[in-house]
Amino acid sequence: MPEPPDPRLQRLTDHLVQDGMARVGVPTRFVAFTGDHALDALLNDIEHHPHAFLLACLADRQVRAEKAWSLPGLLQQRLGGHFDIALLSQLSETDWLDLMRSPTPLHRLPETMARTMHRAVLRVRTEWASDASGIWRGEPSSATLVRRLLAFHGAGPKIATMAANILVRDFHVQLSDCRYIDISADVHIRRVMYRLGFVQNEANSDDCIYAARDANPEFPGVFDLALWEIGRKICRPGNPNCDHCPLYVHCNFRASRCRATEGLTGSQQGDL
Ligand code: SF4
Repeated sequence: MPEPPDPRLQRLTDHLVQDGMARVGVPTRFVAFTGDHALDALLNDIEHHPHAFLLACLADRQVRAEKAWSLPGLLQQRLGGHFDIALLSQLSETDWLDLMRSPTPLHRLPETMARTMHRAVLRVRTEWASDASGIWRGEPSSATLVRRLLAFHGAGPKIATMAANILVRDFHVQLSDCRYIDISADVHIRRVMYRLGFVQNEANSDDCIYAARDANPEFPGVFDLALWEIGRKICRPGNPNCDHCPLYVHCNFRASRCRATEGLTGSQQGDL
């Protein structure tokens, strides 16, 4: 006999699925990736500059997300306002490195990023006829989309599923299914999933990914943004702001924290 689902986790899952599907359902909007309108405009222009979005995803390593998302727009400024594939594909890896480094460094891994950008642009030119939107055009399956993204130098599952989630959720790219779009189990998502009681070990990315698959097999990544936003802004490592958390009523950690504060003095409660 299969174990009956934990009712609390089931309610939490229902809440997160509903929230995630509502985000997928809203009409296409301008995504504030960086908060700088000019930089974001390039990333949102997936019709004319789909490679800008792709390159930003590939840059999302070991830096804050906003810094990675800023990269294409800042490179465009260094290239005198141009960012078309024809121009970018003329750049050597050394040219990319120069652009990445001066006058100020644009990423903490300039050599890695120069190699990644150079190879990505060449791949877009040769495999996708200079149009990166071919990667997601034509309603491919989610597995096909993720595999196409993984083929880029520097793209692991975390980057590939993040890109796939954004394409479906924010740019309303049509796929034949969403079954293989996982959560991108970064430090924020792992912490929130652990505190909510989805997983027992905060450090275990694989367990988080499988827990999301288990919770919503048709689209495991539907939770991704809600959990990431909560982890980044509310459920901070040292002092989660539970009073402002939309998952307050469902949370294990919050409940045990409340129990722990019972019986403590006011100043002790402030330390928690
Ligand atoms: S209720 Fe508190 S501990 Fe639970 S997810 Fe929200 S912020 Fe984190």
